[in-house]
Amino acid sequence: MSNKIIPSNIKNLSQLLDDGLILCDKLGVIISSNSIAQQFLNKNLNKKNISEFIQIDEFKNLEESHSNGNLNDEFHFQTNDILKRSLITKATKIEDNLYAILLLDMTLQRNLEKVRRDFVANVSHELRSPLTSLVGFIETLLSGSVNDEKDRNKFLKIMDEEAKRMNRLIDDILSLSKVETEEHITPNTTISLIDPIKHIISSINEKDLKEENKILIEDLRSNPNKNCFISGDIDEINQVFVNLLENAIKYGFDNTNVIVRIEQEKNNEIKVSVINSGEGIPDKYIDRLTERFFRVDKARSRKIGGTGLGLAIVKHILIKHRAQLSINSIRNQETNFSITFPIIN
Ligand code: ADP
Repeated sequence: MSNKIIPSNIKNLSQLLDDGLILCDKLGVIISSNSIAQQFLNKNLNKKNISEFIQIDEFKNLEESHSNGNLNDEFHFQTNDILKRSLITKATKIEDNLYAILLLDMTLQRNLEKVRRDFVANVSHELRSPLTSLVGFIETLLSGSVNDEKDRNKFLKIMDEEAKRMNRLIDDILSLSKVETEEHITPNTTISLIDPIKHIISSINEKDLKEENKILIEDLRSNPNKNCFISGDIDEINQVFVNLLENAIKYGFDNTNVIVRIEQEKNNEIKVSVINSGEGIPDKYIDRLTERFFRVDKARSRKIGGTGLGLAIVKHILIKHRAQLSINSIRNQETNFSITFPIIN
């Protein structure tokens, strides 16, 4: 059997690859390409020169670069189409006048890296503001220029609030990073859904709220006493409802109730909605609410102790639970955060 590699065999095999593969001659004229390479660079690669698509000096004369040992490296380049894919490529000599060019798509990694960099920048920015304020007050107090005890207490109270804000921020950042990294792992424990929700509602009602500002349950199912079960993580489900209920109270009008509505339209799904009366959310912002650190009114959220991470945490927990979140808001009337959970029958 001959050892000679036959291009048509490579051609067939190359269609099985998840990466792009191009075969070309020593001057870069393309002999064949697999569908992934065509997807990355151009549908019509045959007989064209690779230099039209890959501008890398070492690929201009593959034979020469190969003899100089310049083909050992991997090269990065970006496609010049609208997608601006980030690709890594490497050329290998297969036989005289036949070269294989491998293309690996690194676009997702590049985007993730960008998200990570943005996140670090956002976090530093968010932490810097309470920290600057704390340092300012500490310096003022240390300078000995505040003699009045009332003023001193006022400063200490602000410092206490800022320190607590930093604490909340760090807790939320840790929660978010945990749920983000684990969102592809579906929980394998079966939990009851309605009982924990009722439990959270009564504890918030007891703790914080005045008589005219309560959370009420509206169970519209044919059998309201029936429990229902989901595959879930109890702590995370609690966190979802604590975040939504706290928001409904924070952003709701005074002296209005928050409603938690439970509905079951399909056998295998249950919908739980948290509804409040309030100023609401402009339509153009609805899709952005679950972005980390997005706040419709930054100053207001900050004033009432928000971190801008609550809904991002909710989003990732719900992805993990294969649940759907939908948000509807009518300005100056009501805002509704509805979650549809798949249930275990
Ligand atoms: P925050 O810590 O600022 O409350 P969230 O991620 O929980 O952060 O919410 C993001 C933003 O969504 C809030 O700053 C607010 O502008 C808006 N929002 C959330 N819930 C409501 C609601 N029930 N009514 C009106 N606006 C809301």
